[in-house]
Amino acid sequence: EELRGEASMDKNPRQVPGYHYSRVDPTPVPDPHLLAWSEELAAFLGLQRPPERGPAVEVLAGNRQAATMKPFAARYGGHQFGNWAGQLGDGRAISLGELTAVDGTTWEVQLKGAGPTPYSRRADGRAVLRSSVREFLCSEAMYHLGVPTTRALSLVATGDEVIRDMFYNGNARPEPGAIVARVAPTFVRFGNFQIFLATGEMDNLRALADYVIRRHYPELGEPSPEVYARWFEEVCRRTAIMIAHWQSVGFVHGVMNTDNMSILGLTIDYGPYGWLEPYDPDWTPNTTDFGGRRYAFGQQPRVALWNLMQLGQAILPLVSGVEALNPSLDVYINTLGTTRYEIMLGKLGLTAGNPEEDQALFEALEQALAESEVDMTVFFRQLSHTAPAVLAAPENGDAQWRELLAAAAYSMAPAEEQALLGWLQRYFVRLQQEQASPETIREKMLAANPKYVLRNYLAQQAIEAAETGDLSLLSRLMEVLKKPFDEQPEHHDLAAKRPDWARDKPGSATLSCSS
Ligand code: AMP
Ligand code: MG
Ligand code: MG
Repeated sequence: EELRGEASMDKNPRQVPGYHYSRVDPTPVPDPHLLAWSEELAAFLGLQRPPERGPAVEVLAGNRQAATMKPFAARYGGHQFGNWAGQLGDGRAISLGELTAVDGTTWEVQLKGAGPTPYSRRADGRAVLRSSVREFLCSEAMYHLGVPTTRALSLVATGDEVIRDMFYNGNARPEPGAIVARVAPTFVRFGNFQIFLATGEMDNLRALADYVIRRHYPELGEPSPEVYARWFEEVCRRTAIMIAHWQSVGFVHGVMNTDNMSILGLTIDYGPYGWLEPYDPDWTPNTTDFGGRRYAFGQQPRVALWNLMQLGQAILPLVSGVEALNPSLDVYINTLGTTRYEIMLGKLGLTAGNPEEDQALFEALEQALAESEVDMTVFFRQLSHTAPAVLAAPENGDAQWRELLAAAAYSMAPAEEQALLGWLQRYFVRLQQEQASPETIREKMLAANPKYVLRNYLAQQAIEAAETGDLSLLSRLMEVLKKPFDEQPEHHDLAAKRPDWARDKPGSATLSCSS
């Protein structure tokens, strides 16, 4: 209520100076019907799966509202690919309001693809089934992997068609429309603060910071210059933890613009993201990230820091000076380092040793993987079985290591195999210093190295089937990705390396930005 909302319900694209958000109703769609539903998120929010068609699904499509809802679109700006882009805002996302979960926490429910808002600029405010399936599946998969993220409650088909002129199967073609109801404590982004600095709205800047602190960082106390600085430090810390998790599972966001960075350190705005298959720090799924590979996998830690610096710029007027914020950037760097260190120890079944030696060991692995063509997920998962097995029976070590590499590699030149075998031997010396039994180490590694991630080609297959009305792979993936660390032997095919034919399919190769 401290935040200023523009009351006009006008949906025409325009600049909205002076306001945090605009009141806007979703635009109704012709035939909303439920395609997918997230059971445990729903249970947590106290909701039950609704029938395929009916009033509840109409709410999730924006056709109907409860009396208590005051739908709005937020105003924000952002740096896109390094350049200030001015006012952006929720161009196709409309928040309905908040729900109270069974534990008493409150959650904002936002419809993505719900029609035009003042922030739609030249676009239509809609989302296609393809991009909606991707956001729905991936945000839930990330949650179950333990990565900080927004959630997805429902996926609803609109019964409408949407045209996108993009590099998808060649030409522009009509595609089915869809709406995801996504859920987070708040969808406030770095860009919500940046827009106020850009337009000199200092009262609004302070009001938003106060709102976010009181509402989402109450443990920091009543806002003051010192509290604003501590809050920035906490955002830096949370962002570091998020990035450490991305790097540990091979997630590439693809559009790390400052308007896509959550003030809560959650993964937000699933667009042209992708998953590493061959371990490759230079890989990006985003076709519009030309040449520079600004948002490639290996760049993410650096780009997040750059984005935090932009947030720091935006909130600088609230603190005593840049010295109040600079130490927080070191907190980012240090938290990223320690979190990645701890995660990597877990992935390799180790307890902390000499940090410098361990770090050198980890870097040598990253380098050997980058220099060959090895599937990241299969490598670590298979290592969780092989390493304890070699501990138990070292005499068969060489053959077992070779088997592991054969299982994980897409192709392997002799020199690459030698480099990886060399690393495995070095690692094994370190592993032998562990006190725990091979069985305990195996359990620990299996709990740290997922068997199932949302492989790019699997998402694409689920989309293509869903477009023909076949939801079986979509629902199978949803089920399997809920327990990514469990063997689930009956679903072993979903853990396989990307097949050859999928190498250059859309989704496995590259995707453009907005869909
Ligand atoms: P993104 O790159 O998806 O984070 O989007 C950048 C900006 O473009 C945000 O302000 C979005 O709301 C807006 N946008 C993306 N797609 C659409 C669309 N189909 N209709 C309206 N606005 C959009
Ligand atoms: Mg966005
Ligand atoms: Mg490589």
